[in-house]
Amino acid sequence: MGEAKFSQEPIDLNIPDNYVAWTLKHQKPLPPITWSNWWKELNTLSVAILILVPVISIYGVLNVPLCWQTAVWSFLYYFITGIGITAGYHRLWAHRSYNAARPLEYFLAMAGTGAVQGSIRWWSRGHRAHHRYTDTDLDPYDARRGFWYSHIGWMIFKPRIKPGVADVSDLSKSHVVRWQHRWYLQLIIGMGFILPTVVAGLGWGDWRGGFFYAGAARLCVVHHSTFCVNSLAHWIGETPFDDKHTPKDSFITALVTVGEGYHNFHHQFPVDYRNAIKWYQYDPTKWFIWACSKLGLARQLKTFPDNEVRKGQLTMQLKRLRETQESLKFAPDPNELPVISWESFQEQSAKRALVLIAGFIHDVSSFIDEHPGGRHLIAKHIGKDATTAFFGGVYDHSNAAHNWLSMMRVGVLSGGMQHGLDDKSVPPSQRLRIARYSELCLNSASTSWSEDEGILG
Ligand SMILES: [Zn+2]
Ligand SMILES: [Zn+2]
Repeated sequence: MGEAKFSQEPIDLNIPDNYVAWTLKHQKPLPPITWSNWWKELNTLSVAILILVPVISIYGVLNVPLCWQTAVWSFLYYFITGIGITAGYHRLWAHRSYNAARPLEYFLAMAGTGAVQGSIRWWSRGHRAHHRYTDTDLDPYDARRGFWYSHIGWMIFKPRIKPGVADVSDLSKSHVVRWQHRWYLQLIIGMGFILPTVVAGLGWGDWRGGFFYAGAARLCVVHHSTFCVNSLAHWIGETPFDDKHTPKDSFITALVTVGEGYHNFHHQFPVDYRNAIKWYQYDPTKWFIWACSKLGLARQLKTFPDNEVRKGQLTMQLKRLRETQESLKFAPDPNELPVISWESFQEQSAKRALVLIAGFIHDVSSFIDEHPGGRHLIAKHIGKDATTAFFGGVYDHSNAAHNWLSMMRVGVLSGGMQHGLDDKSVPPSQRLRIARYSELCLNSASTSWSEDEGILG
């Protein structure tokens, strides 16, 4: 059973370079789901499982008393089967983020089967497509189609467009993956229902509680917990590493998904065995893998270079700072200010309060009475160069004062000062600026052309 499907050759070996566009152009989507055809388009098996499990759980909750031992066991078994998915299906098989010893592989395969989410091979294939085609029509759980589609909708109806190709030929070589595929049905019944029931039954005589709580209700919770990685993790939270796509980092998502909530990080660095990189962030799956490595059960835990991770963080920080920068007003561009002769400066100073500082002419009329040092200190410099007085001669003004002064610039004195080369002519708030590479290219191009040793030299 299933052996023939395990191809050793990568399935995506010969796909065209423009695969996504090519596929969307050539694949004829199934007809849209309407009131007249929806029942023919249902994924019957998934729908049956997704309805039966909650119905059985609700029946159990209403009719079977919950004893504390069963409550503890259900919670524990939720964690065990959840870890089977997160540390096993997801981080070990779908992403190959570490190597597991054979006993750990069997444990994870069995625990993961108890979460009843399809075989490792099927699950990994879908998940790899999700990473490769995130936020495109070839993403099986495309988050752009809304919360409910990515949570559960994609399993209820047959997909209109087939998910993009993703290679899982590496998994074909795994003994455990093949074993699980072969015995999948028996394992589901055993791990999903018999084991949780038997533990509670033999342990403290609660056979019914074992079945309804540790079996059905626990399965219902573990289902929606995993589904949240496709829905909630693409829905709420922050984007500290990249905002090109929908994945987000959120403590709430981490809490309900056994630590898979740092999904913004995960989509940027999918081969990293961690989801959370800070020690205080909630990622029990990472702690589990790490503990296994200390016990000699896991090896070669992969992490992305910290330098590259921090680059992503810096980019997002700069992006936010740029938004702040753009929301503020800065001094007028010196190149756009009128160039004024000494004579004209003198003439106009007689009519309004103009002061020359660092080569710029400032109109201080509206400020002169507000000057913390007193009106007189400005008044005596009207029509004069107050550079030395401003920069320490009388009082070494604060950076805030320098920034504010620059807002009063109305002109540049002809031959006054070479702008941009002296700290005095650049307000402190503009000495470090966030610029797009295209803006930087323009500046550096103009500098190299004006240099004596430029390309003509
Ligand atoms: Zn995702
Ligand atoms: Zn993933």
